[in-house]
Amino acid sequence: HAKAKGRNRIAIFDQPMLQKVRHRLRLEVELRQAVEHGDFELYYQPIVNLRTQALVGFETLIRWQKDGQMLPPDEFIPVAEETGLIFEISRWVLHAACRQLRDWQQRYPKMMAAGLTLSVNLSGSHFSLPTLVTDIEQALNSYHLWGQFLKLEITESALMKHLESARELLLCIKSMGIRVAIDDFGTGYSSLSYLRSLPLDCIKIDRSFISTMDSSREDLEVVHTILLLAQNLRLDCVAEGVETTNQLQQLRSLRCPHGQGYLFSPPLSANQAELYLQKHLVT
Ligand code: C2E
Ligand code: MG
Ligand code: MG
Ligand code: MG
Repeated sequence: HAKAKGRNRIAIFDQPMLQKVRHRLRLEVELRQAVEHGDFELYYQPIVNLRTQALVGFETLIRWQKDGQMLPPDEFIPVAEETGLIFEISRWVLHAACRQLRDWQQRYPKMMAAGLTLSVNLSGSHFSLPTLVTDIEQALNSYHLWGQFLKLEITESALMKHLESARELLLCIKSMGIRVAIDDFGTGYSSLSYLRSLPLDCIKIDRSFISTMDSSREDLEVVHTILLLAQNLRLDCVAEGVETTNQLQQLRSLRCPHGQGYLFSPPLSANQAELYLQKHLVT
């Protein structure tokens, strides 16, 4: 009896963990299949000039078409990172983004004239891979693209994790004409001296500060400080997750050059993004 009781106790404690492990394993198997079948799609979110609201580019955001649903990256990128599947996914993203950019540039020459860019999120583990530079070169070459229309985003925390190799890698990437943005800025722990020593082009202020800047004096101050920092270092700046006109007004009064968020547009499918492009390219 005691033994049965003991087993029960173990069962009670282990059930949630077992379920987690099962879920994780299933996700891993399904993700592997998705990579084989190419069940991913890129969405595109417009980035705008906050003063004029003119379109300046798009950020590509990966989605997983799973059982008729679009799964957001936060639900599978971590598993992809842990299993190493991220490398194949990351290369796929680079190629798909470059293919789309080339296609749009060819059909809408104004896009190049207007200098519109496409931003691609780089995973931290891909950033640390020796093949990163050739992966990027291959993607550009496959579609005869100029680097200056491509932007790469790397999160502040990923950059800090790979600090030793970061400077050299970024210089290599920049020598291809590609611009580099530090993503989710303000959530990591980068020191100012590192920031100054890295060849960056743009700071993306994390959404968490933008979403509370109209209710929290401190967050407003953080946004203000980041903008001053960007100005001093001659870096471009994008406010992430702009949702309200109030936030837009505040960002404008702080002279934040660029923004992105539901107020302007949610992430769009390729077809929707093309319609957006047609509408916003007319001059
Ligand atoms: P991120 O690069 O910081 O992308 C911005 C995220 O904020 C996107 O979430 C976007 O849909 C969301 N967003 C944009 N505007 C608003 C807004 O006004 N309000 C709110 N609440 N959210 C907004 P998403 O698409 O779920 O992507 C989450 C993260 O996954 C991205 O954060 C990025 O770090 C990562 N990710 C996305 N695509 C890729 C990819 O192709 N490769 C890698 N390695 N990571 C990716
Ligand atoms: Mg990003
Ligand atoms: Mg971000
Ligand atoms: Mg993010």
